[in-house]
Amino acid sequence: NNQIKVGIVGYGNLGRGVVSAIQQNTDMKLVGIFTRRSPESISMNQADLNMQHISEVEKYKNEIDVMILCGGSATDLPEQGPKFAKMFNTVDSYDTHAKIPEYFDSVNKAARESGKTSIISVGWDPGLFSINRLMSEAILPKGETYTFWGNGVSQGHSDAIRRIEGVKGAVQYTVPINEAVDRVRSGENPELSTAEKHLRVCYVVSEEGYDQEEIEKEIKTMPNYFAEYKTEVNFITEEELAEKHSSLPHGGFVIRGGESGGENKQIIEFSLKLESNPEFTSSVLVAYARAAHRLNKEGQAGAKSVLEVPPVYLSPKTAAELRRDLL
Ligand code: NDP
Repeated sequence: NNQIKVGIVGYGNLGRGVVSAIQQNTDMKLVGIFTRRSPESISMNQADLNMQHISEVEKYKNEIDVMILCGGSATDLPEQGPKFAKMFNTVDSYDTHAKIPEYFDSVNKAARESGKTSIISVGWDPGLFSINRLMSEAILPKGETYTFWGNGVSQGHSDAIRRIEGVKGAVQYTVPINEAVDRVRSGENPELSTAEKHLRVCYVVSEEGYDQEEIEKEIKTMPNYFAEYKTEVNFITEEELAEKHSSLPHGGFVIRGGESGGENKQIIEFSLKLESNPEFTSSVLVAYARAAHRLNKEGQAGAKSVLEVPPVYLSPKTAAELRRDLL
């Protein structure tokens, strides 16, 4: 049986998404899930998953071809990325953009020492959007690239609102401003401030006895998160929040407006419309897990970002089949 044997570290939204994505890929097999919590305490989305405590992981060193790291970017991956690269081929979705070079170096060091292959910052942004930014800039060196996010839930901004005293629950949607998108699509290449590109729409449940006006003011003036943006705050009931705002949609577009050599206007656009951000991100992780396994078999050890992985490695088909079917 030459199925690729996959492990998962961390069982949150992405971990659950990876379980379901592997089921759509017949060349892959899930061997085990490793968690820091007590495995018995976790309710699983299906009964037959091999849920293990993370301390058992070394026993699986020869049983797993690639480990998909599904921890959070803030504190889990900076520790787990280099740690697991010492033992396994890995893929992860590290998305703290400003710290990617530093993270790459620490994973690269570990993977070079162990002879494993680690693909970092896989997903859609960073990930598929990064590839599209690269391609459009390489093709149209004269031009301007714009990235818009949304309509989608931002976990970081939702968490920031939930930390305000008197807030019982909250969800924040990042919404691209149509007027800005239209100007970019027309090839005008406008100069746009962050506030001109995105609107922040918040749905908030307040605790009894707290002043909603005060809460709204605190949200709208929060530095880095809201103060620089146009922010809309809507107070709703707990029932409405649960009913209408519990899925995690997202998406967005990367657009480059440029000019080719003969001064003709050229517009490149890549867009995503996702009903579930974590499920989609997990699907990207699984395709790159295949790539990590293959690159390692060819002796390409060390860390790589999505920009350095040739697309043929993502597909279960051979290069010859892909040339025949997709060119
Ligand atoms: P979660 O918060 O759902 O899970 C993160 C970790 O927290 C899990 O691995 C799990 O580890 C632990 N955990 C999960 N549920 C619980 C719980 N109920 N109680 C205690 N611990 C829990 O994060 P997501 O899966 O939604 O996202 C992970 C990261 O993916 C994000 O930080 C984000 O940076 C990144 N991401 C990247 C994208 C991209 O395009 N590149 C897109 C989307 C997300 P354990 O099982 O060990 O306890």
